[in-house]
Amino acid sequence: MRKLLSFCLLLLAGFAYGQRTIIYCGQFIDVKNMQVLSQVSIVVEGNKISDWQQGYITAGKDDKVIDLKRRTVLPGLIDSHVHMESEQGPNTQIKRFTQEPADIAFDAARIAKTTLMAGFTTVRDVGGSGVNISLRNAIKRGLAVGPRILTAGKIISSTGGHGDPSNGVRKGLMEDPGPVQGVANGIDECIKAVRERYKDGSDLIKITASGGVLSLEKDGSGPQFSEAEIHAIVETAKDYGMAVAAHAHGAEAMKRAIRAGVTSIEHGTMMDDEAIALFKQHGTWYVPTIIAGKASSDSAKKPGFFPAVITEKALAIGPKIQATFAKAYKAGVKIAFGTDAGVYAHGKNWMEFVYMTEAGMPVLEAIKAATVNASELLGVSEITGTIEKGKSADIIALDGDPVKDVQSLGRVKFVMKEGVVYKNE
Ligand SMILES: [Zn+2]
Repeated sequence: MRKLLSFCLLLLAGFAYGQRTIIYCGQFIDVKNMQVLSQVSIVVEGNKISDWQQGYITAGKDDKVIDLKRRTVLPGLIDSHVHMESEQGPNTQIKRFTQEPADIAFDAARIAKTTLMAGFTTVRDVGGSGVNISLRNAIKRGLAVGPRILTAGKIISSTGGHGDPSNGVRKGLMEDPGPVQGVANGIDECIKAVRERYKDGSDLIKITASGGVLSLEKDGSGPQFSEAEIHAIVETAKDYGMAVAAHAHGAEAMKRAIRAGVTSIEHGTMMDDEAIALFKQHGTWYVPTIIAGKASSDSAKKPGFFPAVITEKALAIGPKIQATFAKAYKAGVKIAFGTDAGVYAHGKNWMEFVYMTEAGMPVLEAIKAATVNASELLGVSEITGTIEKGKSADIIALDGDPVKDVQSLGRVKFVMKEGVVYKNE
């Protein structure tokens, strides 16, 4: 009886969402098979894709039609490494002391909209103040416009490490941060820090396994957690179904993180052959963020843009990522698209495609890294990442053919997320 009742309810829901939308696609990128098809129809019902096929199917009188016959259609893009709360600028250090969480939230809402309009229907936010969790919830509830967000909430760092929020701050201005704030030393604190993130409502864990460029600390690449600490983080995260993303520039830091079982390495700048072998042995994902390296070394050339300690690191580390990416790609490391948006201007995420293809990855493979691969890394491949029956209607369209012109990925003219059209130019 209960089954029958829920079946009837389903039917009713089906009628409520009864109207079909048929999208006519001039070109269609089949991301799984990395091929471009012409003249394809996609059928959307409610917030899901119910079918797609080659040829322009005949629309019924109740069907809504979206004509993208002059466009190239592909699944909504996924950026596996963004920071939705902020954008790097000359006032970044001051803002830490002047912005209220509500100020951050208004900024973040603007950034979320920009990101969605650039064709990114899903992002993984890898660290902020915690406002990123509220932003995710607001978008889910329809109170803000933006991509589907999976967020780490606050980063977990060791004392003085890349993610320590008190770095460079005069004594007495800030209390000594602990696991609640995302700073952990030793196994017990590492376990507590993960549980704090779970309590906050994080979707995943982000750690800073090595030093980093844009923090007020001296070393941008050395290891900042022991392997045992990372292992404790990974094991605890597993209890809550959370993956662990590890920021790492130096080789030793990434080796420890891979051996300890993290899901992805972010940046991976000084990856050596031993590290590459470990990536392959453990099936660890690599999220390159080439654009972030380039943008921070470009900014470092502007006098006074960064404090001196950052300038030096940005010039040394930033330009190296593209060559690392080329090497990792050639070696067959699993790559998911990620850009570190926020380190450069949000909405320019597509530039990463330009840098990936420059480094030798064919554009369709780069698009696969930003759809199929990224959806696997984020654990959302059942929901999004391809245009397939039963998946969320996350669909975008470009002016131009990316195979002939990679810049067309910067000309997003149509955005649908969960069946709702946000842009149609
Ligand atoms: Zn980052």
